[in-house]
Amino acid sequence: MRRKLLLGNWKMNKTVTEAKVFAEEAKHLGKEARAHKIDMGVCVPYIDLVPVKKIIKNSLIVGAENCHYLEKGAYTGEVSIPMLKDIGISWCIIGHSERREYDNETSEKCNLKILALLKNGMTPVYCCGESLETYEANGTKKFVEEQILKGFANVSAEDASKVVIAYEPIWAIGTGKSASKEIAEDMCAFIRKILAKLYGRRVANKVRILYGGSVKPNNIRDYLLQDNVDGALVGGASLEVESYKELLTNLL
Ligand code: PEP
Repeated sequence: MRRKLLLGNWKMNKTVTEAKVFAEEAKHLGKEARAHKIDMGVCVPYIDLVPVKKIIKNSLIVGAENCHYLEKGAYTGEVSIPMLKDIGISWCIIGHSERREYDNETSEKCNLKILALLKNGMTPVYCCGESLETYEANGTKKFVEEQILKGFANVSAEDASKVVIAYEPIWAIGTGKSASKEIAEDMCAFIRKILAKLYGRRVANKVRILYGGSVKPNNIRDYLLQDNVDGALVGGASLEVESYKELLTNLL
């Protein structure tokens, strides 16, 4: 049985001062989520990790939004996995479409990051999803399959089940135009089928696959009622503590 997972993604939002206010108000939510067998957390900018973790402790998952795949070296401005581990962070988003678009993040590079995170016992949240152009040209499945195959290259069957996948159609991110629950289910089921081909049904059935793209308190339930949608990656609605709370309460 896969546990439901609700993850926020703050992107480049919140100063340390703002992040602390959010953390104080949200820290009790983890207990409530766990009582309903839901894992809940938030991925935040590097600078917010330490203060947010200090307040939230282990109540909610606190994750990073990116990392470098090498341990250390001359990579100005980057943050390594050992640096994240050292401050108690064990979750990290990889390959968000904004990083793919603005920072030239390829699936091959994502694969190096996924392998490095797994080697360090951490949980990658691997994002995939197509542009509006690809969607309108009926190219979604081919495109996403390639992202999955490249992202999972050299990942063992044992490790594969530790990866979380987030299917996020780019045309639905931050646009207010969410994919229908049928599209979300169809794509999450399709991704599970690819994993079954790679690793067998047993492993595929263990992997948590999230939907992301304009998930709000008023539509989250529809997505999470789908057989293959195991949770949500949420941008905008995770920024205000009230709507973040409602994402959970509307599921209960
Ligand atoms: C995201 O940041 O991954 C995302 C899905 O954003 P939003 O919920 O704002 O569409």
